[in-house]
Amino acid sequence: MNAPIKQHLIDPEICIRCHTCEDACPIGAISHNDDNVVVDASMCEHCLHCIGPCPTGAIDNWRVVSSPYSLDEQLEWMDLPEQAEIAISDGTSGASLDDAIQQLLDTAHEGAGGQARAPATASQPSINLHNISNPLRVRVQGNFRLTADDADSDVRHLVIDLADHTFPVLEGQSIGIIAPGLDDNGKPHLPRLYSISSPRDGERPQTNNLSLTIKREKHGICSNYLCDLQRDDEVEIIGPFGSTFLMPDDPDANLIMICTGTGSAPFRAFTMQRQRTSPEIQNKLMLFFGARSSSSLPYFGPLKKVPEQFMKTIFCLSREKDLPKKYVQQGMLDEKESLASLLPLPKTHIYMCGLKSMEEGVEQAFEQIANSSGLDWSKLRTTMRDEGRYHVETY
Ligand SMILES: Cc1cc2nc3c(=O)[nH]c(=O)nc-3n(C[C@H](O)[C@H](O)[C@H](O)COP(=O)(O)OP(=O)(O)OC[C@H]3O[C@@H](n4cnc5c(N)ncnc54)[C@H](O)[C@@H]3O)c2cc1C
Repeated sequence: MNAPIKQHLIDPEICIRCHTCEDACPIGAISHNDDNVVVDASMCEHCLHCIGPCPTGAIDNWRVVSSPYSLDEQLEWMDLPEQAEIAISDGTSGASLDDAIQQLLDTAHEGAGGQARAPATASQPSINLHNISNPLRVRVQGNFRLTADDADSDVRHLVIDLADHTFPVLEGQSIGIIAPGLDDNGKPHLPRLYSISSPRDGERPQTNNLSLTIKREKHGICSNYLCDLQRDDEVEIIGPFGSTFLMPDDPDANLIMICTGTGSAPFRAFTMQRQRTSPEIQNKLMLFFGARSSSSLPYFGPLKKVPEQFMKTIFCLSREKDLPKKYVQQGMLDEKESLASLLPLPKTHIYMCGLKSMEEGVEQAFEQIANSSGLDWSKLRTTMRDEGRYHVETY
């Protein structure tokens, strides 16, 4: 049997036959007939130049195959074949690893109940460009401690330089990291997911890099590996992952963001993207941010500088010296009136991210706030979720 390869394919059901991908391909690996646009596996070098220009995302499809689909086969397709189970060299299978990552994401999104949906106006995400058999090798550009030296948690801001690689991401997506070495059973470590904390065009506009917000877990394999990385160290990344926990590309959308700890990562990305694209829009963003103390709250300093008209930030500190304990649900109840007026609006989106343990309290707070203004929270939540306006990512 041939060694499995990752084959780049175009989804004929989504493709609008605009042929921008053909123009973007520098080596002529993409061609078409009257029916389909297709990629020649014997030529394609996975440079990804074709991904960005595609208006629909049809170009962004991949299958691990032991022998590639021929051009003749692809030209006949009405839809894409399913991923078949393929054995790969590490003894696992490409499909089962993708399944493992999908399972991590599904578990993280469970709190939304039912089938999570992307906001109607969200950009089309690229997903699964790199997997364990084809990770992207990149370098660390910086690793900064975000929490105070004497804080009880070590949270890091890790910047990864994507150099000249094409690795398009959207705010709300995650990447996977595989820590080097083997686990106790002699197998490679499973990938861990980390939310991207920078906006789509990088830490500064037009810089091809991305950042992560990593909390060091005692005895944790991957978080310790990442927190200890130094500038210029090589790191292997896979992904991007996530096609529903995305921000609406609509400057008029109201975003209610609720997080604890490193759950702030995607909201840093959301806020920066809004600041870049529509800095003039006011009173649309609310952030409820829970942490033990201000010294253990990632991005505390920068957040305090964001003007209140641009984003109202409510810090909820449960162990701050000389202050009463406050959890995110209490912060929400303190803002009951503002939240009650936002909940029924069709442009309101709710995002929750961070520790699983926050879900119950947040749910109860929403229920109480909705009830107080005569709204049925469970019905409203279902409507919002079905319309891609209610998102949970907890781990
Ligand atoms: C969608 C998603 C997004 C995420 N985003 C982020 C993010 O932005 N930032 C972030 O920091 N994390 C994030 N996570 C969590 C992250 O993926 C990892 O789960 C986390 O970093 C822990 O991984 P680890 O390899 O360090 O710990 P593991 O090695 O997997 O250990 C897991 C836990 O077991 C404990 N443990 C392990 N070994 C021992 C031992 N011998 N004795 C006692 N205890 C032990 C560790 O303390 C740890 O808490 C996200 C998860 C998901 C699903």
